Amino acid sequence: MNKYKTLHNPAYLKIDLMLNGIKADNETIQRLGLDLRYGYTGVTGGLDILLPHNTWVNASFLEEFAKSSKYELVLRDKKTFIKAGDESVKVDIMPKPEFYKLSTATGIPLSKIGAMHGGYVAITPDTRCEFFNMNIECRYCAGNFNSGGSGRVYTVEEVLETVDAANKEGKAEIVYLSIGFSETPDGGIEFLKPYIKAIKKHFNTLVAVEALPPKENHFIDETYAVGADSVLYNMEIFDERLFKEICPGRDRLIGRERYIDALKYAAKVFPNGTVATHLIVGLEPAESTIKGIDFFTGIRVVPILPIYRPSVGANLLNYKVPSLDDVLPVYRDLYHAVKKNKININWVRDISVITTPIEARFFAKTKFNKTLMERFYKTKLGVKTAWGLSTLRRKLRVREGGEG
Ligand code: SF4
Repeated sequence: MNKYKTLHNPAYLKIDLMLNGIKADNETIQRLGLDLRYGYTGVTGGLDILLPHNTWVNASFLEEFAKSSKYELVLRDKKTFIKAGDESVKVDIMPKPEFYKLSTATGIPLSKIGAMHGGYVAITPDTRCEFFNMNIECRYCAGNFNSGGSGRVYTVEEVLETVDAANKEGKAEIVYLSIGFSETPDGGIEFLKPYIKAIKKHFNTLVAVEALPPKENHFIDETYAVGADSVLYNMEIFDERLFKEICPGRDRLIGRERYIDALKYAAKVFPNGTVATHLIVGLEPAESTIKGIDFFTGIRVVPILPIYRPSVGANLLNYKVPSLDDVLPVYRDLYHAVKKNKININWVRDISVITTPIEARFFAKTKFNKTLMERFYKTKLGVKTAWGLSTLRRKLRVREGGEG
């Protein structure tokens, strides 16, 4: 009988590690050869660990709170384990990619432009968000996009150099392009267009766009037509009152209703399972996140559930990190809701910084049987096929709509 049950279930372990981090002493850090210059702190800056059942997690280990975690990283005979009490499971540590050591021809370190998290590379070509200038930034935002930051806009060439280097290492199956708020009606898609087009032209990779909803729906059609395979408009908080309080910019300049309308529309344009919205776990009561999951899956939108851990610079006072028991009902609901609404859960997967719907199967009471298709899309060939199918579908749809 295992005393540490969470250790032996990858989804429980992932959430517990995201909430509480992992202990790692200096000797282990040195023996693992971790180069601490490459962003191992912050919201998504922890250690990428591959747990059993191909489950990725990003676990903090340098922050103060990680020192009291019940989990510890240990090395035995050159193998890595996560240990709790006298029990342990074997894991793999994902070293920071080699491309982090390279720079663009213009001298910018690629690690500043692209961040790897499991099977995808995240790129924010414009690091500014205008909410900050108006003091209506999302209260949990630690300001990666802040107006006082580098303010650097990376060129298409610089982004291509980054994708190319990640691709050569086999680490760019999906490229996430994100953008903060700007006061243009298109939600930033006009700015992102040349990046999407160039990436699709040069690489066989899937592109996801994470943006704020545009004011008019035709920009959503354009997002699809130009080459995005997936789109995320992150409502973040489902409860109306808390949405106003925590996301004042999103509330005042976009509005909750517009999020819902844009997501509903996008779900009709993009393939099943490729339209998603974040609902941050821990910033509203679990019942309210569950209402959000049920609502969004009902309109064929995939809820993605990051766990909030306050980081330096965020503006949320008196926040209490929830316990594993507090958040489990939310993840259980996620799996049942996506299954009930027949949402394809193969697109949003292999991500270390959030729990994906496919991982939530480990919380379900019913036995999970992977279908042949689910197994197939996990393979390299499956990813290439998904890319080919998505390109074909787009061509047909755009032709039907009379564009392109
Ligand atoms: S939209 Fe909100 S979370 Fe995104 S960068 Fe701006 S303030 Fe931060």
